[in-house]
Amino acid sequence: MAEPSRPAPPETFEATLVAARLVTPRVRELLFERVDGQPFLHRAGQWVSLVLPVLDEKGRPLRRAYSLSSVPAAGVRFELVVTRVDDGAGSTFLHEVPVGTRLEVKGPQGTFTRDVEAGPSLFVATGTGVAPFRGMVHEALASGRSEPLWVLFGVRSLDDALFADELEALARQHPQFRFLLTLSRPGPGWVGRSGYVQGHVLSLWQELAAFGTPHVYVCGVKKMLLEVREVLKTQGGAQRAQLHLESYD
Ligand SMILES: Cc1cc2nc3c(=O)[nH]c(=O)nc-3n(C[C@H](O)[C@H](O)[C@H](O)COP(=O)(O)OP(=O)(O)OC[C@H]3O[C@@H](n4cnc5c(N)ncnc54)[C@H](O)[C@@H]3O)c2cc1C
Repeated sequence: MAEPSRPAPPETFEATLVAARLVTPRVRELLFERVDGQPFLHRAGQWVSLVLPVLDEKGRPLRRAYSLSSVPAAGVRFELVVTRVDDGAGSTFLHEVPVGTRLEVKGPQGTFTRDVEAGPSLFVATGTGVAPFRGMVHEALASGRSEPLWVLFGVRSLDDALFADELEALARQHPQFRFLLTLSRPGPGWVGRSGYVQGHVLSLWQELAAFGTPHVYVCGVKKMLLEVREVLKTQGGAQRAQLHLESYD
């Protein structure tokens, strides 16, 4: 009898940083290109591991995972967005590394992906946790399907809302797509949602359920993930199969 097929192990390859820019005061967007000229194929939601020339306490190079923020395409390039974490060795290096630097990359990796036919979906992110949703939303909208896709994105202030212009433009073009921003430190004059994503997720989930069995995709730091899961399980009746979580820590 044939053995069940296993997914191929992730590839290791070298990539050159070909462009970099600050997209918010604390987030740098990095564009990499494979050195060997091979296409980089991934699914929206997957991530890569970067091997950094910064040694850990045991003298080994640091390895750090970053979600692919680029929309999947059959090219040699891919993009990442990195939050500068205070006293974080890996993210500080990636905020300072010059264009032209080559790094070892392992990937794509991970199973935090969305089936295009998944049905009504709520995407909940804080900070760079929005990265995997960029590709998922573009793919879902390009597929021509019409189920609701709602992104709830929590950041401190408008300055921190990466990809907001792009996602707002998509929302204007596609009636089934909503982009909902919530600010934890809103400035004067802000009339939109405020507070943490945890405070908005239940009402959106209940509203979304009117369109069919909903799924929720949540990405960011663990504390937020666990609180969102708790409220949706205990008050929203969400089942395990409807909850998809990706933790950054
Ligand atoms: C699957 C996966 C995907 C990831 N994707 C991304 C990504 O797309 N962009 C990104 O910036 N980070 C991402 N991370 C986090 C990243 O791997 C590093 O942990 C992060 O850059 C901090 O590393 P550091 O060496 O600077 O700091 P460390 O000293 O290793 O970490 C310090 C602390 O930073 C916190 N932290 C980690 N990530 C973040 C973050 N994004 N925002 C705020 N605080 C954070 C953690 O609580 C951690 O305890 C991902 C992690 C995983 C596991």
